[in-house]
Amino acid sequence: MENLEVLTYGFALSSDQGAFGYSTNSLLTVGGNKILIDTGPSSRRNILYRALAERNLGTEDIDIVILTHLHWDHCQNTDLFPNARILVHPTEFDYAKNPNRHDHAAAQYMAEHIAKMKIELVSEGDRVVEGVSIVETPGHTKGHISVLVEEDQEKLLLAGDAMPDGGTVSRGLPYNIFWDVSDARDSVEKMVDISRVFYPGHDRPFRLEGETINYIHGPENLEIFNSTEGGATTSLTFTVGAHRHVNIDTVQKPA
Ligand SMILES: [Zn+2]
Repeated sequence: MENLEVLTYGFALSSDQGAFGYSTNSLLTVGGNKILIDTGPSSRRNILYRALAERNLGTEDIDIVILTHLHWDHCQNTDLFPNARILVHPTEFDYAKNPNRHDHAAAQYMAEHIAKMKIELVSEGDRVVEGVSIVETPGHTKGHISVLVEEDQEKLLLAGDAMPDGGTVSRGLPYNIFWDVSDARDSVEKMVDISRVFYPGHDRPFRLEGETINYIHGPENLEIFNSTEGGATTSLTFTVGAHRHVNIDTVQKPA
């Protein structure tokens, strides 16, 4: 019997001073196995501790960490889980050892740190535990993976940034592509073929019914705190666009 919960919900927030990097981090419990999918940015470390504590868990209780990819906002807290086996795709791990210097989301020290942990390289079809397997979904990054959970009647896909938001379905593309547009498009098609329920990297979980995205759970609001005291920003502007531009500035796959 599987249980899937979101520990920290993802948001697709950005600013003219950079992205917030709030990724979705989920806890999957299968039998006695506690599996964490993505660990999130260090800015949310305390929120992650709290979410685990609310479930009477500490970081030492996590048996397996699956990293969808090695962007900072998905893997920065991996050091908190020294007991866990760390699952990552070999292509992703290789790339992270020497990332392109224009790739603002990957850093060499991520690979160096994970190399000191109990790393295990996984690829297409590998079974993690009963009912949980790896699906290769490259494009957003070179070695991106997603996690397929097969329940009694239904398949769920923890999609990471191969499908960062609900809008990915209508665009046919994630909104940031660091490796290849064609691979990214193929990965979206593959995911929609496999599953109807998605846990995106930077959005609430949703069910796809026909063309319609029905969110399942998660916060619809986010509060930003600010103060004018001490020379801080005196105002904030919040701009919401109906559509999201697909950023391909960092595409790297050789033509
Ligand atoms: Zn990413």
